[in-house]
Amino acid sequence: MRYIEPHAHMVSRVTGDYTAMVVAGCRAVCEPAFWAGFDRGSVEGFRDYFSQLTEHEPKRAARFGLPHFTWLCINSKESENVKLADEVLAMIPEFLDRPNVLGIGEIGLNKNSRNEIAVFEKHIDLAARREQMILVHTPHLEDKLKGTRLIVDILKNDRRIVPGRVLIDHVEEHTAGLALDAGFWAGITLYPESKCTPPRAIDMVEVFGAERLWLNCACDWGNSDPLAVPKTALEMRRRGHSEEAIDNLIFGNPLRFLSQTPKFSIG
Ligand SMILES: [Zn+2]
Repeated sequence: MRYIEPHAHMVSRVTGDYTAMVVAGCRAVCEPAFWAGFDRGSVEGFRDYFSQLTEHEPKRAARFGLPHFTWLCINSKESENVKLADEVLAMIPEFLDRPNVLGIGEIGLNKNSRNEIAVFEKHIDLAARREQMILVHTPHLEDKLKGTRLIVDILKNDRRIVPGRVLIDHVEEHTAGLALDAGFWAGITLYPESKCTPPRAIDMVEVFGAERLWLNCACDWGNSDPLAVPKTALEMRRRGHSEEAIDNLIFGNPLRFLSQTPKFSIG
């Protein structure tokens, strides 16, 4: 089995996780910028984080033979501080040309607040001006549907945005169609706690088709499983999906989406 882990917060993980992922067939890992579990105090905290994501974590991953890529932004939780968000947005261009930066992400909404929406729109503008791909986080609270609708509308209203270069992540049964019908890619995140179990994920693949879907573990500092993607592949096998279909979903799809930027290369 081979796969690409397209959404993992490796700075929060131990080296044994890297070993386990590589042994399971992982060929590349992508790490969107996210919330650290606490609000950072200043723009310099983000500068250090972006240095970690573009300089230090790729070296750490390389020790396990794993290509490491990243996406940059200020996440929606910290976007409530609009002054800080503006400072971070002004700094991001310094890092965009670094070799492992794939685009802007994971931007999006958490509580669907006005400040979050304003900062989301500023990220979209930055991505459009710099021709960057976009990775979007959708809210985990009960207003996921409303948040996903807001996100899809904002993206569709900006004519500079090419839907096929945007992935809307953390979709569930009631939001996957919203993203896919508008031409975006969609990500299914396998969380131990919110119970998007392997059977539920593969049900979604069977309902919506695998054309523009990827699977990810989104492992971070919380309760999460860095091996959720290969474990879900085993569920596909159990249901009788072909090895070709499994490879297409967990390796071919992320490869196709991410290869739209020439920076994504796994040799
Ligand atoms: Zn994430």
